Amino acid sequence: MEPVVYIDGKFYPKSEAKISVFDHGLLYGDGVFEGIRVYDNCIFRLDEHLERLEDSAKAILLKLPWSREEIALATVESCRRNGIKNGYIRLLVTRGVGDLGLSPTNCFGPSLIIIAATIKLYPEETYTKGMKLITVPTPRTSHAALPPAVKSLNYLNNILAKIEGQLHGYNEVLMLNEAGFIAECSADNFFIVRKGKLYTPATYAGPLRGITRAVVIEIAEKLGVTVAETNLTRYDAWTADECFITGSGAEIVPVIEIDGRTIGDGKPGTLTAKILKVFRTKVSKEGRMIGAPAKSAAKTKAKKK
Ligand code: PMP
Repeated sequence: MEPVVYIDGKFYPKSEAKISVFDHGLLYGDGVFEGIRVYDNCIFRLDEHLERLEDSAKAILLKLPWSREEIALATVESCRRNGIKNGYIRLLVTRGVGDLGLSPTNCFGPSLIIIAATIKLYPEETYTKGMKLITVPTPRTSHAALPPAVKSLNYLNNILAKIEGQLHGYNEVLMLNEAGFIAECSADNFFIVRKGKLYTPATYAGPLRGITRAVVIEIAEKLGVTVAETNLTRYDAWTADECFITGSGAEIVPVIEIDGRTIGDGKPGTLTAKILKVFRTKVSKEGRMIGAPAKSAAKTKAKKK
């Protein structure tokens, strides 16, 4: 059966799931999104993702005409209809259809799109053997330009960084902020371990406020590991005992080399492995159940198009 995609209250077969070329999400990258994981028939940290979506929308003055629960029900229903028990949800809110000017005031109203699919970002080997990173020249967007906490539809900053990495054969990269401290990776947060303590760039250093990042901090604290959210330099990363990256898509991936410097003994670290193990157990136990048909899933505010 062809997968279905939710757009503004209706489900369309994948081949017919389309939006207008006048949608400002396409014209200007004007909108916000979330990437969410489904494990064992449960949506992991759905409420946290929807809270971040609301915050991103608020930051760009995009008023969401749906309650959190309405979006949650539509998300659950998208998984159910597509038979997704383990997978990945891409949830987007675009500014909506408008004219060719930048101003959102002429847009008819936001569109909500939900794609429930499967994902495999990296081969299993990456998790057991680790990955290599390189620092790229493109800095992460500054707080003064566009707060990096906003998960906006305009990912060019990250895409440029990704391409710069790929040009040198790297799948993921380190991005610095304009002061030269590590912000994050192109689509993942960054952690180091030094003398048994865990460090990650503070939110003021310019990372996205990652949901997986928060889960890792929770896990580490439960394990009795001290966690510091602080400024990190490349030197801190090069000389760390262990490094890893986190993201909903990537989960937790050990890093074994940065800018040609071997991290630790060049193998995934023991604390990284411990945190990954707890993470895998946690994701299989928690989340919002995808169960029976959700009654009001397909209900969103009617609007003129
Ligand atoms: N940073 C960026 C720039 C991202 O796009 C993402 C999401 N892929 C992350 C970090 C990780 O965030 P999360 O754990 O919420 O997926």
